[in-house]
Amino acid sequence: MSDYLPPLRDMDFLFNEVFDIPAWWAQTPALVEQVDADTARAVLEQAGRLIAGVVAPLNRSGDEQGCRWDNGRVITPDGFADAYRAFAEDGWVGVAGAPEYGGMGMPKVIGAQLEEMLNAANLSFGLYPMLTAGACLSLLNHASEPLKSRYLPPMYEGRWTGSMCLTEPHCGTDLGLLRTRAEPSADGRYRVSGTKIFITGGEQDLTENIIHLVLARLPDAPAGAKGISLFLVPKVLVDDDGLLGEANAVSCGSIEHKMGIKASATCVMNFDGAIGYLVGEPNKGLNAMFTMMNYERLGVGIQGLALGERSYQNAIAYARDRQQGRAPTGAEAPGQAADPIVVHPDVRRMLLTMKALNEGGRAFSTYVALQLDLAKYSESADARRLAEAKVALLTPVAKAFLTDMGLETTVHGQQVFGGHGYIREWGQEQLIRDCRITQIYEGANGIQALDLVGRKLLGDGGQAYRLLSTEIRTFAEALTAEFGTPLLAAVNELDDLTAWVLDRGQGNPQEIGAASVEYLHAFGYTLYAYLWARMADVALNTEQPEPFHQSKLATARFYFARLLPRTLSLSASVKAGSHSLYLLDADLL
Ligand SMILES: Cc1cc2nc3c(=O)[nH]c(=O)nc-3n(C[C@H](O)[C@H](O)[C@H](O)COP(=O)(O)OP(=O)(O)OC[C@H]3O[C@@H](n4cnc5c(N)ncnc54)[C@H](O)[C@@H]3O)c2cc1C
Repeated sequence: MSDYLPPLRDMDFLFNEVFDIPAWWAQTPALVEQVDADTARAVLEQAGRLIAGVVAPLNRSGDEQGCRWDNGRVITPDGFADAYRAFAEDGWVGVAGAPEYGGMGMPKVIGAQLEEMLNAANLSFGLYPMLTAGACLSLLNHASEPLKSRYLPPMYEGRWTGSMCLTEPHCGTDLGLLRTRAEPSADGRYRVSGTKIFITGGEQDLTENIIHLVLARLPDAPAGAKGISLFLVPKVLVDDDGLLGEANAVSCGSIEHKMGIKASATCVMNFDGAIGYLVGEPNKGLNAMFTMMNYERLGVGIQGLALGERSYQNAIAYARDRQQGRAPTGAEAPGQAADPIVVHPDVRRMLLTMKALNEGGRAFSTYVALQLDLAKYSESADARRLAEAKVALLTPVAKAFLTDMGLETTVHGQQVFGGHGYIREWGQEQLIRDCRITQIYEGANGIQALDLVGRKLLGDGGQAYRLLSTEIRTFAEALTAEFGTPLLAAVNELDDLTAWVLDRGQGNPQEIGAASVEYLHAFGYTLYAYLWARMADVALNTEQPEPFHQSKLATARFYFARLLPRTLSLSASVKAGSHSLYLLDADLL
C-alpha cells in the first residue's frame, strides 16, 4: 500500500475557494477569536502529520492482529495504545469540543476534515476517538452541570473514552423493543441491568476509564420508543473530585469476530446493577441519543469517503506503475514492454469515477459540516433555522450516500489492481472489508433512506427540500450553459421525483419504502452535481489557475457526462412503485 497523503490541497480549496469559510469566521463573533484560515491550515497540517506518520502505519498490522479478549479484558493490537496516547496528548479528541470544558473549540468543518484523515489512515483506530467525541456532544447538550464538569474534561483530553450502548440481541433498528432496565436508588442514582451487543469500544486497553451512554427503561416507563431513557454508566466509578474509585458492575462478556475493522473492539457488554446517572429527562433518552447519532451519522458517512480516498491513492499509484497491454491508439511507452494500465479507457473510467466520487463527497461532507456550524454559531436566527433544516434533511443522505459511494469506490480501487487487489498484500481488500460496516451500523442505509423520505420529506411536506432545491436552482441559473443547463435539468428532475414520492407516499405507505433507497441515490447524485458545478465554477474563474484547477474542471466534466446520468435510471426505478415488490408471497421469495 502506498503511504497515505492527507488531501490538504483539496481541503484548502473547499475552505478558501469554494465555500469562503474563513470570511464567515471573521464575521462571526463566536468564532472570530477562535479560528482563521492560518489556524485551520496549521491544525490540519499538524494533525495530518501525526495521522500519516503514526496512525496510518498501524492499519495493516491492526487488521492482521485484531483485538483479543482475555477474561473480560480487551487487548488492542500492538502500537494502538501508544498511538492513541500521542493523538490524545495533541488534543485531537477534543478538537471540536466545548472550550469551557477543555475542548479546542474548532468548528465542525475542521473536525470533519480531521475525521476524514483519521479514518482514511485507520478506521478501526478512528472509531475510539469518534465515539468519545459523539458521547461528549450528547453530554454537553443533555447532561446536568455536575455530570458535564466531571466527565467532559477527561473525555476531551482523551484520558477516558466513550461508548454508545443501544443494541441488544433482539433489538437493533427497532429500539422500542429494548429491555435493559434502570432502577432508581435512594441516593438519586440508578442501577442499570441488561446486556448490550455490538458495542464499539465497550472495552479496551487504551484508557483508564470508559464512559458508557446506555439506553434503558425506568420501571414505570411506557412501552415502546417513548419509554427509553439515557444513562451515563462509567466503567470505573468517579468520586466528587473526579478521582477514580471502584470498578462499576460493568463487564465485557466477549468480542465479535468480524469481516473488517478488526482492530476496533466490538463488545458484548453486561450491566449487572451498574451505577448510572440519568442524562436529560426520563423517557426522553432517544432524543438525547439522537444528538449523538446525528453527529455520528455524518461521521460514518465520512468514514466511507475516507476509505474511498485511501483506495484511490493506492489505485492511482498502481495504475501509473503497472504495465500491461498497449493504449488503444498505439504505444505510449514504446521503450517499455507494455504501457502503464492508466492508458486504458476502462481503467480511466474506474479512476475518474473514484476521483469524482471522492472529491464530490469531500465537498458534500464539508457542506454539511458547514451547515452544522451555521446552525450553531450564526448570529442570525433565520440563518440558524435554514441551516438546521438543511442538516436534518441532509444527515441521512450524508450517512447513506457517502458510504454507498465509499463501497463502490473501494471496489473500483480493488479492480484497478486486478488479482493483486484480491490478495492481502496491497491492502485494497481490507478497505472493502472495513467499508462494508459503514453501510450497516449507525442505522442501516435502508433505514436512512426511510428517514429521508418518511420523516424529512413527508414530515414537513417537502418544505426543507424546497429550500435546498431553490438554492441549487438559483445557483444553476447564474451559471454559464456548460454546467448551468445540466444542473438545472437535474434539479428539475429531482423536484419532479420528489413531488411524485410525496404524492404517492400520502396514499400508500408501502410506496415510501419501495422508493426510498433509489430516491436517496438520485438525491445524492443531484447534490454532487451542485457541488461539482460550484467547484467547476471556481476552477473556470480563478485568476491564477494551477494544474489542480485543470484537474477539478476535467473531473467536473467527467462527473456530468458519466455519473450524473445515473439519476435517469434511478428515477425510472422509483416511479415503477411498489407493485412488483409484492407479486410474490414471502414463502415464494
Ligand atoms: C461492527 C459493529 C459495530 C457496531 N457498533 C455499535 C455500537 O457502538 N453501539 C450500538 O448500540 N450498536 C452498534 N452496532 C449495531 C448496529 O448499529 C446494528 O447492527 C444496526 O443498527 C442494525 O441493527 P440489526 O443488526 O439488529 O439489524 P436489524 O434491525 O435486524 O435489520 C436487519 C435488516 O432489516 C432492515 N430493516 C429493519 N427494520 C426495517 C424497517 N422498518 N424497514 C425496512 N427495513 C428494515 C435493516 O435495514 C437491515 O437491512 C454495531 C454493529 C456492528 C456490526
